[in-house]
Amino acid sequence: MKFIADSMLGRLARWLRLSGYDVAYANDVSDNSILEHAKSGRILLSKDKKLCEKAKNMSIDATLVTSDNILEQLKQVVRERKLIIRSAPEFSRCPMCNSDVEEIKKEKIKDRVPKTVFERISEFWECRSCGKIYWHGGHWKNIRERVRSLNMGV
Ligand SMILES: [Zn+2]
Repeated sequence: MKFIADSMLGRLARWLRLSGYDVAYANDVSDNSILEHAKSGRILLSKDKKLCEKAKNMSIDATLVTSDNILEQLKQVVRERKLIIRSAPEFSRCPMCNSDVEEIKKEKIKDRVPKTVFERISEFWECRSCGKIYWHGGHWKNIRERVRSLNMGV
């Protein structure tokens, strides 16, 4: 299942990517180009009622996200789309650029992470596109805890 999020939903897009979903983020583009992009097989996530209506008229699947609260937004999309939140780097996509991440040998990233992290952590993942380095903890721990508090299961 692939998504495209409108410019109001950048945070939701990052959280869904961290949970393993392919989410394009339509920042600074016109409604028409969002709809064109969605037509290629992405579900539109939008806070804009008119845009969702336009999408539905073009037979594009869309979810009108109602809350301003990130947790409520995540909860709504997870419920409506029956998503499984798997929050760990090995299941994740890069939250910054939406590309796949792959495991990378520890010795290769010595100079690319803080020293304390390098000493403490043994497994790392790298984004294939932007090269950002990820490890367990941080983002994922945060999401797991929040998701658990909503009783959505992880
Ligand atoms: Zn990336």
